[in-house]
Amino acid sequence: YLLLAIETSCDETSVAVVRDGRNVLSNIISSQIDTHRQFGGVVPEIASRKHVESITIIVEEAIREADISLENIDAVAVTQGPGLIGALLVGVVAAKSLSLALDVPLIGTHHIAGHIYANHLIGDIVYPALALVVSGGHTELVLLEQEGKFRIIGRTRDDAVGEAYDKVARALQFPYPGGPYVDKLAQEATEEVVLPRSWLEPDSYDFSFSGLKSAVLAEINRSRMKGESPDFSALARGFQNSVIDVVTVKAMKAAKEFGVKQMLLCGGVAANKGLRERLASLCGDVGLPLLIPTNKLCTDNAAMIAAAADLKWRRGEFSTLDLKAEPILSLEDWSVGS
Ligand code: ATP
Ligand code: MG
Ligand code: FE
Repeated sequence: YLLLAIETSCDETSVAVVRDGRNVLSNIISSQIDTHRQFGGVVPEIASRKHVESITIIVEEAIREADISLENIDAVAVTQGPGLIGALLVGVVAAKSLSLALDVPLIGTHHIAGHIYANHLIGDIVYPALALVVSGGHTELVLLEQEGKFRIIGRTRDDAVGEAYDKVARALQFPYPGGPYVDKLAQEATEEVVLPRSWLEPDSYDFSFSGLKSAVLAEINRSRMKGESPDFSALARGFQNSVIDVVTVKAMKAAKEFGVKQMLLCGGVAANKGLRERLASLCGDVGLPLLIPTNKLCTDNAAMIAAAADLKWRRGEFSTLDLKAEPILSLEDWSVGS
């Protein structure tokens, strides 16, 4: 069956055509980042307007690249939330129109379920599995006891990892979003400024990154007060190592405690080279299978939304035409069968 999926939760307008939930025929991503960069972050009003301008064109492009016609589509999936309300609305309205016009089911989909199930486009998922979600707005450890059942066992209490990367990147004078630049600088660094690790309570799977971000800013100020120029690459390395230590140690501990058979890495920060390598090495040490999406499938894209929507398609769990865009939406509540 052919599923057309739409993702407009933030600043990427993306449309994909996926066969049988796993075979990506097209995955068109139109990023607005050049527009938002001058403001140092995503401007919600502008994001909505840009989605309106491009959604029809991107749908057509996805259809053309998949080499199908619109009439072949069997279902339409869309990111329902979480995300920017105005941005989500554009996708939801487009998806409803298509569902109505083509008379096919509509599947409202959770953005983070999409990030997690991007892994299903890469390989077979073995349950129970543990997902380490590291994105621009989320940092979570999600236990999947079975397919489509999400249980959050840890989450950030302040900044998400991607958010911390972007704030640190700004302090290191990189353009927005700066995560990839910090990653590259950290890889190239020869020195390291050792920064604190935020472990929280010994039994907690929660995270906190705002203190680490402040530590980077404090180091920069300290150097400048002494009339020295801060060593940006040593700071990038120190920041990246602290983040990677904490998220991977907690993920490995949870994997052991819950006896999972597979680790899944996902979200935009899963594109981080240092993190991919470290997690691969730790999982390798204990013989735990690991899936990580390709970089294109880590950051926001519609193919991952199709992969998650497929869970609902196979169970006949469809949305009605009164589907609403939800800026805040619970992942656990989106589980199949609920
Ligand atoms: P969410 O999925 O939580 O709603 P989002 O969709 O805005 O948030 P994603 O697109 O999943 O976020 O990820 C974007 C984030 O990933 C940005 O913060 C960006 O800096 C970060 N990122 C991308 N590549 C890298 C990298 N190589 N190293 C570190 N961070 C990265
Ligand atoms: Mg984005
Ligand atoms: Fe995302």
